[in-house]
Amino acid sequence: MAEDNVGRIVNGQVVRPKQQLAMVFDLNKCLGCQTCTIACKTLWTREEGMEHMWWATVNTMPGRGTPKDWEAMGGGFQNGAPRAGRLPTSEEFGEAWEFNYDEVFYGGKGEGAALRPQGKPPTWGPNWDEDQGSGDYPNSYYFYLPRICNHCTHPACLEACPRRAIYKRAEDGIVLIDETRCKGYRFCMEACPYKKIYFNHVRTIGQKCIFCFPRVEKGVAPACARQCPGRLRFVGYLDDEKGPIHKLVKQWKVALPLHAERGTEPNVYYVPPLSPARVDADGNVDESKPRIPIEYLRSLLGTEVDGALEMLKAEMAKAKRGEKSELLDTLIVYRWPNQIFPDFTKDPATLEWSRSDTTRKA
Ligand code: SF4
Ligand code: SF4
Repeated sequence: MAEDNVGRIVNGQVVRPKQQLAMVFDLNKCLGCQTCTIACKTLWTREEGMEHMWWATVNTMPGRGTPKDWEAMGGGFQNGAPRAGRLPTSEEFGEAWEFNYDEVFYGGKGEGAALRPQGKPPTWGPNWDEDQGSGDYPNSYYFYLPRICNHCTHPACLEACPRRAIYKRAEDGIVLIDETRCKGYRFCMEACPYKKIYFNHVRTIGQKCIFCFPRVEKGVAPACARQCPGRLRFVGYLDDEKGPIHKLVKQWKVALPLHAERGTEPNVYYVPPLSPARVDADGNVDESKPRIPIEYLRSLLGTEVDGALEMLKAEMAKAKRGEKSELLDTLIVYRWPNQIFPDFTKDPATLEWSRSDTTRKA
């Protein structure tokens, strides 16, 4: 357990870490390929009791997400006071499914058998409404929303834990659960407005994204970011004025937090999706009407999304005129990994890892 009060309110102010690690996700580049979710799953949540856990998820938006309808489950803060939240059920997260592997691979049925979940038919899963989106043809639309724990500046999970098992590291702002102190009360799961904590029913503890801290401590980017083929997950210190995170969030203001109104000051930021123009029944393009309704984007990213989209379009126009755009050059990431996570460029394959590096839990 941390001895300091980082992440807590003291004398009316949130105690901030010395530096804050953050991520920026450029939603214009996400392919929905789920490489990030699998990279995280295979690295961190393979043990007993973790089968249903997906610390990193990618959902189609508009959509109900994971856990199902998490945006309507409350949590976080309102006017500085905790806002009631509810505990998602295991059905809303989606259970880990068992498949009929024996029948398909060893049953001798050839093409007469196909892989199917066994037991009670599933009603939801981490990527259940994939690619459904919204709108009517020819103006239907969707985009992908990758999510992890936001390692919030004022984490509702941390404030809600009566055991002080959740703490925020002073050196980099990563939010961790001390598994030796956690008793599985799950107040954190109720309080988190992003519903990014899972319950391990075998060990009766809460578990969540750890920002790959054993990798970060060795100069290696988190697995979700390093494996991402879309190269859209920027990693760095929010306070580093020369780094891409600071520039995208603070200087150009094109990266915005998700549901900032929930009051936890999340440290994952999103470059909003641009969208094609609407088309009428005769096939005429109306450039003044984006296919993704701006009201929908405002509901996710706040009214600042208008300015972010304007900035992106202005920079694209500049580039079309043949002028240089540092913003677009940053988002394109010509040189990987230096331009996307400049402080975490080490190749994990070149380092010595001990079992304690990869199994060490907070
Ligand atoms: Fe806590 Fe939720 Fe914020 Fe993560 S996203 S730090 S679990 S409140
Ligand atoms: Fe999107 Fe990258 Fe994740 Fe693929 S790996 S779903 S491109 S964030």
